[in-house]
Amino acid sequence: MKIEILTLFPEMFEGFLTSSILGRAVEKNLVSIRIHNIRDFAANKHKQADDYPYGGGAGMVLMPQPLSDCIRHVLSDYQDEEAESMPKVIYLSPQGKVLNQKLAQQLSKEPGLILLCGHYEGIDQRVIDRYVDMEVSIGDYVLTGGEVPAMALIDCVTRLIPGVLGSCESILEESHTAGLLEYPQYTRPAVFNNDEVPQVLLSGDHKKIGNWRRQQSLKNTMKKRPDLLSRAALTEEDYRMLKELEDSN
Ligand code: SAM
Repeated sequence: MKIEILTLFPEMFEGFLTSSILGRAVEKNLVSIRIHNIRDFAANKHKQADDYPYGGGAGMVLMPQPLSDCIRHVLSDYQDEEAESMPKVIYLSPQGKVLNQKLAQQLSKEPGLILLCGHYEGIDQRVIDRYVDMEVSIGDYVLTGGEVPAMALIDCVTRLIPGVLGSCESILEESHTAGLLEYPQYTRPAVFNNDEVPQVLLSGDHKKIGNWRRQQSLKNTMKKRPDLLSRAALTEEDYRMLKELEDSN
């Protein structure tokens, strides 16, 4: 997947792009990421990329000229591509569709993403109208800029690209993938501060471990996010376990 980040603050991505799983994915060429400084495209001599909003009001708005020139510059690299290979232009915005695991899964199948990071009061609406395919929010709160949302999106999308994570199983059982929260995880030592790891996990009996994990997953979801249960794909056995859990409360 090709990811193009358009930002006024490229330095914010240092470290993020080279560390951990994402850093390895870039090294293995599973993902290629380029950063474009919107300010480099400002045509005025002061390299100004923002201006006062028409109609008055607080703050500054990103001007359409540097932004649209930056987008066009990036898109020119894809001019020979078929329509289905074109990257999706996403504006990170508190007004967008709220990012969740399902949307992350859909985006992970795209050939490329152009991520537009706004700042200050946002960006000129004409840029959104002309170029943006989708607005994506990372939650119902307002951040200073689109850089942190872009990092959140890149992180959750790229880890779903085949080969990025070591084991596909860790994705399949993760919170939100199948509509439930994940079961509790434990690692060595088996006893820590007198607290023991549940015995079943040391049993080596994979069927029992699987059943225990499913039950714990249902329990976690019932306790922390009961709203998810009505949308999860549950089996007869799950309903039986849920009933048991309810009765034991
Ligand atoms: N005035 C805008 C509004 O009320 O809709 C908010 C602008 S916000 C201070 C500046 C930039 O941060 C936005 O252009 C957007 O790129 C980014 N941003 C802020 N909150 C966000 C969120 N929840 N999800 C995604 N992007 C966000």
